[in-house]
Amino acid sequence: MKRAFAIVFSALAALQVSAAEPQGVVLFLGDGMGISTVTAGRILAGQLAGSTGEEHELSFEQFEHVALVKTYNLDRQVPDSAGTMTAIVTGRKANFGAISVAGSTPRGSCIEALQSPLPTLLERAEAEGFSTGVVSTARITHATPAATYAHVSERDWESDADMPEAVRLEGCRDIARQLVEFDVGDGPDVILGGGRRNFLPVERHDPEYPGKTGKRNDGRDLAKEWWEAADGRQYIWNQAQFNALQPGPNQVLGLFEPSHMQYEADRERDAGGEPSLADMTRFALHSLLARGQPFFLVVEAGRIDHGHHAGNAYRALHDVIALDAAVAIARDILDAERSLIVVTADHSHTLTIAGYPERGNSILGKTGLGDFQYPTLGYANGPGYRQTETFETLKDVDTEDEGFKQLAAVPMPSETHAGEDVAAYARGVGAHLVRGVMEQNELYDALYMGLFGAPRR
Ligand SMILES: [Zn+2]
Repeated sequence: MKRAFAIVFSALAALQVSAAEPQGVVLFLGDGMGISTVTAGRILAGQLAGSTGEEHELSFEQFEHVALVKTYNLDRQVPDSAGTMTAIVTGRKANFGAISVAGSTPRGSCIEALQSPLPTLLERAEAEGFSTGVVSTARITHATPAATYAHVSERDWESDADMPEAVRLEGCRDIARQLVEFDVGDGPDVILGGGRRNFLPVERHDPEYPGKTGKRNDGRDLAKEWWEAADGRQYIWNQAQFNALQPGPNQVLGLFEPSHMQYEADRERDAGGEPSLADMTRFALHSLLARGQPFFLVVEAGRIDHGHHAGNAYRALHDVIALDAAVAIARDILDAERSLIVVTADHSHTLTIAGYPERGNSILGKTGLGDFQYPTLGYANGPGYRQTETFETLKDVDTEDEGFKQLAAVPMPSETHAGEDVAAYARGVGAHLVRGVMEQNELYDALYMGLFGAPRR
């Protein structure tokens, strides 16, 4: 009896110790996931699940703490991903196109950028001996993921081939090189995304698409350099290798496409196969937890933005649903008392939900009066612009087709970002700091609190 009591008691004590141990912070970025995109994504998710859709709840819509976030860049009313992600991961607003360098740095300058890096939360975590991860369906060198580990005044400098010779001679390094040469702590521990071409020399054929080559002019194979730089590192590039890999404490680099990974809607058709955002999130979380230190993980649904730029709500919204599934994985794996999950967007897009469609009308369908039917979803600008006289022909157009481009009011080859506030949703340690109407860089305070359990220094 006494012995049984002792066992119960020690089990309780163990439970209390583990209850205090922080797990980590996950920042989910829906690139371009403005509020209308969340609403439309929610309705589509509900409709795909067989309901009318409007009443559906996405995983992160169940989080208690919500804020509106002002997204402007220091120099632009309507921002881009570089300046906005810099604000979130460094706590300082930045300029359009700038990646984790101070606002005093002119775009495209080298010397000034070398003198004005803004430390990122990922670097602070690595410096503390914590674990870190970066996951994105975009190129891992694209603006949003890059802002976590690189410092560069021009977001387009993803490989050395993208840089003017003058800035290379001044000592500035491309973004892929900055990832592989990252020298704080032991570097990011889980890196999963697209963008293989920026890591391979131009002389090298791509393993998945033999007709394509790497992009680098300096002859370096950065993927190989990365896995040779430390024991136990593993590099993978396709679904079979991903499936064969057990999540554990070893560091992993996965580059699943030469450029961006596929849209969720196209993923099944990929030649080499690709893991979903949810699969990558699950893998990253189990790997980071296996390392036994608090972690900072960034997960970007990078192609919501690209679907919108293409005027194609179908692909943008299916990528919102992929993000929803990834957040649900994190919500289920992590303990709310010992972790923080923040879900937000870097900026909005010009998507609108218009007309008076009836409850349960397909969100990708049409609304209107009699013969005058138009798509419920539209954009303020973009490639879906049509002359007014062709509106009648919409009667015969399947607006639910995956390739349909929603109507746009102003003709533009690429639909633009939008400048209204985005939402942030939070659960866990520090989530109470996500509230009211916030400046985007204030999200950093919540992430910092979640990671270090104390106010930002
Ligand atoms: Zn964009």
